[in-house]
Amino acid sequence: VAKPGITVLASKISKEYVDEITKKVEALKSIRPEGPLLVGFLANGDPAAEMYASWTKKTSESMGFRYELRRVDEKDFLEEAIIEANRDDAVDGIMVYYPIFGNAQDQYLQQVVAREKDVEGLNHVYYQNMYHNIRYLDNEKQLKSILPCTPLAIVKILEYLKIYNTLLPEGNRLYGKKVVIVNRSEIVGRPLAALLANDGAIVFSVDVNNVQKFTRGESLKFIKHHVEDLGPYSEDLLKQCCADADVIITGVPSPKYKFPTEYVRDGTVCINFSSEKNFDDSIKTKASLYVPMTGKVTISMLLRNMLRLIENAEKVKAK
Ligand code: NAD
Repeated sequence: VAKPGITVLASKISKEYVDEITKKVEALKSIRPEGPLLVGFLANGDPAAEMYASWTKKTSESMGFRYELRRVDEKDFLEEAIIEANRDDAVDGIMVYYPIFGNAQDQYLQQVVAREKDVEGLNHVYYQNMYHNIRYLDNEKQLKSILPCTPLAIVKILEYLKIYNTLLPEGNRLYGKKVVIVNRSEIVGRPLAALLANDGAIVFSVDVNNVQKFTRGESLKFIKHHVEDLGPYSEDLLKQCCADADVIITGVPSPKYKFPTEYVRDGTVCINFSSEKNFDDSIKTKASLYVPMTGKVTISMLLRNMLRLIENAEKVKAK
């Protein structure tokens, strides 16, 4: 079968960030001689999380960070363990492997992590800034806000693939681009739709229930995105959204799910962030650029967020 496009691996996309982060960690030697410390909390005994944790350790250590996995056998002790790490000056960054309780208690735990150490960018302040298209934490615009790392990784991938047009002014660089996102979770899909719409794209956000359109309105007249319901989920509606899409992004957490290749227009850019393979190999006959996995870019963004948190803390101290 002819393959007119190419497959782009996350390792290639993350290379530039890995180099940049490694240099910055080196430059931090005066204040963090042994490297910044990232602490991961594992309280669900999930083998997938265990694997992700060992991979985070390997990756972060290769860039000069220290990584410590803290296993909490009793879920109900996790909150205390997080608070202890919040108070510990030796800890620079904290991440937690979810799901733990698998309900609203997980959202509570996300807010227990100190904002100043929240490498995943899950703190309410960071989310609200993102949804409102606010880029700084302070009025003087010295302290940059943190973005949730998976949506941020997808933004960086779209920059690498030149979907962001750098001839356009910053903040409008996706003007005219149509993007379909199949996933609307609070962790990835919904913030991603908002971020891309804030940058000027027309986003069709698809989940099992319905399809929504995220845009900044006609001629980008609004400063932040607005959301419109397009109706309940149907194959027809999905097909319509894909007909003239520039980019299709999938994040369905099921091994059985395959995005219908026949809905994909020739030359579409296709990205899958699910841990499952949402596109089958036939996508290579349609996609111009195909990114099958994104995890390596996500972890780079996590470590980049950690450096930003340290930078912010130093600026606050210097005030
Ligand atoms: P989730 O279960 O919270 O959300 C799944 C979303 O997909 C929901 O919005 C759901 O409605 C939608 N969906 C499910 N089946 C669908 C279908 N048939 N058609 C349309 N929409 C459908 O999951 P999540 O936390 O968003 O994670 C999704 C996937 O992304 C998982 O595989 C996870 O491992 C992966 N993930 C990857 C990264 C990364 O960096 N690559 C980061 C976080 C999560």
